[in-house]
Amino acid sequence: MKYIFLLFIFFSNLHSNIPYYLLNKYFQYDKEYLCSNVFNHDFKNKDKFLKRDDFSNFDVLEYDLYLDWSKILEGESNIIQTREFKAIQKIKLTSLVNNLDKIFLDAVELKIDSILVENTKTFAFNHFEKKILEINLDKALNIQDSIEIIIYYTYQKNVNRGFYLYPKGKIPWNDDSVNNLEKLAYTFSQPDDARYWMPCKDEPYDKALSKISVKVPKGFIVASNGLLDSIITLIEDGNEKDVYFWRNSLPISTYLMAVAASKYELYKDYYIRKNNPNDTVKIYNYVWKEDKEIYKDEDGFEFNAEKTFKRTPEILEAYSNLFREYVYEKYGHAVIQPFYFGGMEHQTITFINRIWLTYNSELGVAHEVAHHWIGNLITCQTWQDIWINEGGATWFEALWIYYKTLKETNYDNLAFKEYNKYFTDRAWRYLSKDHLHKKIMNQIPTDQLFSNVDIIYTKASWIYHMLYRRLGDNFIDFMNMLFHKYQYRDISTDNFRKELKEFLKNRNINFDSDKFMYQWVYDSGHPIYYTFLKYINYNNGKYLYRLTLEQVQKMIGLKELFQTDIKINFYKNGIIDTSIIVFNDLVKQDYEVLLNNLVDSLDVDRSFLLCNSWSNIVSVNDKNIKQFNYYSNNDINYININDLEPFTNLKIYDYLGNLRYHFNNQEYVISNIDLNRLDLASGIYFLVITSKNKTEIYKFIR
Ligand SMILES: [Zn+2]
Repeated sequence: MKYIFLLFIFFSNLHSNIPYYLLNKYFQYDKEYLCSNVFNHDFKNKDKFLKRDDFSNFDVLEYDLYLDWSKILEGESNIIQTREFKAIQKIKLTSLVNNLDKIFLDAVELKIDSILVENTKTFAFNHFEKKILEINLDKALNIQDSIEIIIYYTYQKNVNRGFYLYPKGKIPWNDDSVNNLEKLAYTFSQPDDARYWMPCKDEPYDKALSKISVKVPKGFIVASNGLLDSIITLIEDGNEKDVYFWRNSLPISTYLMAVAASKYELYKDYYIRKNNPNDTVKIYNYVWKEDKEIYKDEDGFEFNAEKTFKRTPEILEAYSNLFREYVYEKYGHAVIQPFYFGGMEHQTITFINRIWLTYNSELGVAHEVAHHWIGNLITCQTWQDIWINEGGATWFEALWIYYKTLKETNYDNLAFKEYNKYFTDRAWRYLSKDHLHKKIMNQIPTDQLFSNVDIIYTKASWIYHMLYRRLGDNFIDFMNMLFHKYQYRDISTDNFRKELKEFLKNRNINFDSDKFMYQWVYDSGHPIYYTFLKYINYNNGKYLYRLTLEQVQKMIGLKELFQTDIKINFYKNGIIDTSIIVFNDLVKQDYEVLLNNLVDSLDVDRSFLLCNSWSNIVSVNDKNIKQFNYYSNNDINYININDLEPFTNLKIYDYLGNLRYHFNNQEYVISNIDLNRLDLASGIYFLVITSKNKTEIYKFIR
């Protein structure tokens, strides 16, 4: 045994917590055996590995990981002396098939030092292209047979991927820099980088229990998943070191396992469980001491962790009220930088980018809490199902807005309005990016997931939102059903679809959920409507109109027809007079509409359906769209708006209903619009002028 214990600090019952690798004979690294034969191996079965069939033959029950980060964090805080660290992964797994004689694990660029199978050292392994570890078993396993494999390995990669290490001080970052107040090491794996820092079966669907123990120099604090069992202090080469023992008692996917270590300060908060007021969930926040309260850096940024995390208990309460109770043993945040993302929902220990401490990032905090229902408790089966996680957590952000507005104002209408506004405000993130319009939700390659965030977040959140708008509390009940039925498991897009269909059938709800799913999830695009309203006659106190809906998205190469319900609002003097919901299942369809009043305009309700339209620029009562008197010679260069009555809003739409320019009378005093100064390709455009009492539309050709 390498380690000599001189000093113990007891945080809990120590003896039961000393892990096997600090006490027994297996705590060893075999210097002689370096699997040198591995790299010459004929990798002829590469395709088979890439298909990963062999990974589905077994189920991991538990990871017990030990990381020795004492050397990498040692010494001068502003210098990285080494990035190399030793580690041990103990994996308990069970076979799902008969005659399983090989185990395949992901282990990318890790140096495998030695492997024990059932406590017996084995040389029968290969490390294909230093990516996939094949372990041959002496004795084949049958269904439900379990074994334990212990892998001693060395992390050696000298660039940040999966494992990240930064010194104290200024670090160049994104054409700028960040200033780390302490040396920092952390892991970040989503989607499939866990294999860069630990051997594992790196698939989101395989959940296991986990223990993570990390050795760090005295003064460093380690944050990880689950609860802290204990900290053991030991003396090594005359220096004090702490080993943190974290234990996560609920199943976890590898991409949600995480560690952060720095000279953090821990401050605690708590959430009182809704279903048991005597039970509190600890909230552990790991921040740099200066950031806890207000800290101003030299660039004028003001960091304030307490402010950022203040509403975490309420957010936990909100989701526990709407859905089932929060299931995990704790919650927490570890603040890191530099970081490519804003936040990451590592189970019970969300990592957030330090930049979130400088502004109102409440929705970001809510998003990561939300993942503890949608993403962590039930998890995407493959990365192509990630829309379930991200769309769900983004929808939850709006649910938090609803919940807190209702709590603060007691006005349900206002809360619902704010909830809807969240979606109408964000729809453009998807709608304005036409490169996304042909992408299919569940067919985005794993390495492109996060360059398509407006599909897997924005559009995906709209899928949840549209279902909620159509099914109401039934949809909340449906999600809650999933949170029980699929708890601690994975869920595929197909499971989601089938479960929804079954659920609605059982409740006798007449909604074609399959049609909805096939259009929005299994296919690309969105509808773009041209609408027209024509007044027919007046009879028995009612005004009869003919409403024409036409889907025009085919013009830009999108799927020709969406069959969906659509909500139309009719306006009189700028106020909604009547709203109707019609089902549109033809490319061009007429409806007869009886209204109590004469109306002067209409629009497609953009909070109800993800679509584009230029319905709001269509006038009614047989009043045609006006042609312009152009102020120009031969070329149309100016639109003279001098003669028009004072306007509050002036908008230019293209033929597909995309808003191209928006002028506000308060901001612009203009009499002419100089078309040469606008970036408009040739085509048909509409100028929509809203004045106090009416909206007028002018058509012009560029
Ligand atoms: Zn997310």
